[in-house]
Amino acid sequence: MTGNRNAHPESGSIEVICGAMFSGKTEELIRRLKRARIARLHITLFKPRVDTRYHSEDIVSHDQSRIEARPVAHSSEVLEQVGTTDVVDIDVVGIDVVGIDEAQFFDEGIVDVARKLSARGIRVVVAGLDMDYLGVPFGPMPALMAVAEQVTKLHPVCMECGGPASHSFRIVPDDNQLMLGEKESYEPRCRACFNRGMQNP
Ligand SMILES: [Zn+2]
Repeated sequence: MTGNRNAHPESGSIEVICGAMFSGKTEELIRRLKRARIARLHITLFKPRVDTRYHSEDIVSHDQSRIEARPVAHSSEVLEQVGTTDVVDIDVVGIDVVGIDEAQFFDEGIVDVARKLSARGIRVVVAGLDMDYLGVPFGPMPALMAVAEQVTKLHPVCMECGGPASHSFRIVPDDNQLMLGEKESYEPRCRACFNRGMQNP
């Protein structure tokens, strides 16, 4: 075998980084990928094409740290681009770590993609919102959390009471789930302050 040293099936794993808006998910994803890069592992990063907030090619967190990312329209494109279809062997491509940002916006197929990548010995690091603005589990995130070895829930500060926040409270009227996370549109809130806000908008 040639190529990357970590591409053994037993080394594959799935990590999920989740939490409310402003919990630092993307910063944590970037931190883990940069550490892997320092360890001379080959990394690649994907994001759904829907997210064009700041830049079309880089993932840019709210604190402006950045790393290049490939926008894809469908989960199947991740497998195609990493080369883990049956046609191309992973050892030829040599990817060790695959990052996926804003995973809540992917189709349900992203769960199977993560499992297939990890079965090929790849470390998969997924970041995404665990709940939408109604407090409902968001897209494929619950299933990704279920199949992951490690789940990290991050908690920003509740803007009402200063406690640890778990929910993203929308402070502008809009019922589109896809509305993206501009700072002026949401604020992190704990469960109690979120519920109070939903009852008295
Ligand atoms: Zn609160």
